[in-house]
Amino acid sequence: MDHIKIECPVCEWEPDGGPHWNCTCGHAWNTFDTGGISPNCKERWKDTQCPACSQWSPHIDWYKGLDEAIKQQIREALEKEVYVLR
Ligand SMILES: [Zn+2]
Ligand SMILES: [Zn+2]
Repeated sequence: MDHIKIECPVCEWEPDGGPHWNCTCGHAWNTFDTGGISPNCKERWKDTQCPACSQWSPHIDWYKGLDEAIKQQIREALEKEVYVLR
């Protein structure tokens, strides 16, 4: 998959690779490294909050340039809780 860009669906802020996300277990990490899964407790975050505008959006909506068909597959996988992004 190429030409995929990650940005906030609300304000278009682009993740800079920093650990901006805090899990309820206290772990801070870059959620886009793991497809929304806390590396510490394996909690899966279906929605992702933007550090810039504080709005929550579905994790999948942050990925721009994905085919609708692929997005749909990922959404279905998310619902089955077996989703690992590669
Ligand atoms: Zn934002
Ligand atoms: Zn966690």
